[in-house]
Amino acid sequence: MNASKKVFLSDAEMPRQWYNLAADVPMQPHLGPDSQPITPEMLAPVFPMNIIDQEMSTERWIDIPDEIMGMLARWRPTPLVRATALEAAIDTPAKIYYKNESVSPAGSHKPNTAVAQAWYNKQFGIKRITTETGAGQWGSALSFACSLLGLECKVFMVRVSFDQKPFRKMMMQTWGGTCVPSPSPETNAGRQILQEFPDTPGSLGIAISEAIEQAVTDPKGETRYALGSVLNHVMLHQSIIGLETKEQLKKFGERQPDVVIGCAGGGSNFAGLAFPFIHDVINGDKIKVVAAEPTSCPTLTKAPFTYDHGDVAKMTPLMPMHSLGHTFIPAPIHSGGLRYHGMAPLVSAAVQAGFIDAVALHQKECFESGILFARTEGIIPAPETNHAIAATIREAKLAKEEGKEKVIVFNLSGHGMMDLLGYEKYLSGNLEDYELPMEVIERYQNVIKNHPQPTQ
Ligand SMILES: *Cc1c(COP(=O)(O)O)cnc(C)c1O
Repeated sequence: MNASKKVFLSDAEMPRQWYNLAADVPMQPHLGPDSQPITPEMLAPVFPMNIIDQEMSTERWIDIPDEIMGMLARWRPTPLVRATALEAAIDTPAKIYYKNESVSPAGSHKPNTAVAQAWYNKQFGIKRITTETGAGQWGSALSFACSLLGLECKVFMVRVSFDQKPFRKMMMQTWGGTCVPSPSPETNAGRQILQEFPDTPGSLGIAISEAIEQAVTDPKGETRYALGSVLNHVMLHQSIIGLETKEQLKKFGERQPDVVIGCAGGGSNFAGLAFPFIHDVINGDKIKVVAAEPTSCPTLTKAPFTYDHGDVAKMTPLMPMHSLGHTFIPAPIHSGGLRYHGMAPLVSAAVQAGFIDAVALHQKECFESGILFARTEGIIPAPETNHAIAATIREAKLAKEEGKEKVIVFNLSGHGMMDLLGYEKYLSGNLEDYELPMEVIERYQNVIKNHPQPTQ
């Protein structure tokens, strides 16, 4: 019996390859404006070709370049910790483990792909990267990564978060990035939205339009765009989370988990932990894989699987995914990172293939769970992460009802030290639950009803 509280891996034990679920779950192609599958050349103004190759790859294992390993080694491997105090507090026979991705410099899993994307851009000769950010996690992760490689970084931050989370902007600036609120007057997409809706809280879809526009209109051609979630290459870079977790579970003496849980915004931290385990499910293991999302943005639990754009200005191709509609403006809940209208095509494909259970949770239950976690295990989690914790507590209570000593693993995707205003609101009783009504969902679906339909 191993009664350790946590398991570290040495630098030498860090995985040297990423796992690509696209090798094992069939995906339908992204479509261009003519409804025909897009070619790599069509994406070339937006992304460097080495990243496009990765985006379209169906290789199962892809080597991690040595220089990226060196950057990841600044904080990886991250610890896997047994949440013994949380287990005791909810009196469950389940064993709960969490993968602590909050130990990265920016405080979340996002630097795992930020350093990889910045490195591939630099290899390709790019000097400047534009991006969007919701809660500010991605903008700070990319600013950090660009600072390591001497690249310029420009971030369009969703207005509501720009106002709610000024410290994230300061982190970006500290790492040398530039951050503006979106919609901004700097782009056509931004100006149009501001004219029609001057008081809009903004959305990730709008910010993405602005960032892509600024990348593709650089007259010198030295700017590209980077996305912090959703795309296949992001899921790929995040797979290091699950691959490390598998090694660590073995050192804890566990053969396999019974339940694997992540919160899902665009899908990347969830996929990062879950996809290497889905690989085992495909090879015959039985693991329940749970994606936890907010009731205010119920992409997996209520939105159809359809072809839709990743952004409001339709600059991205049509992607086969669960989508609330590319014009969707979510309620300004405190989990900024979970307010995206779509879900990663690879996560969506895995849902369609039956590998994933999705659950939607109200924000009060999530904050209550995050606070219980903080008061037992100590770490104050990001509001996004609280969705994974709430789903974990539900599973642990179910294990108690069933009298089973289940092994549950969840992804602690980030800490909440920059999100304390959300906690303050909850603690002072000023946080409301909000469930997106069906008629609003139907209204937004009008914008996608004439899109081509994927076959499953
Ligand atoms: C961005 C973010 C998320 C949501 O994004 P995914 O791509 O779904 O992982 C979740 N948790 C934290 C801490 C984040 O920063």
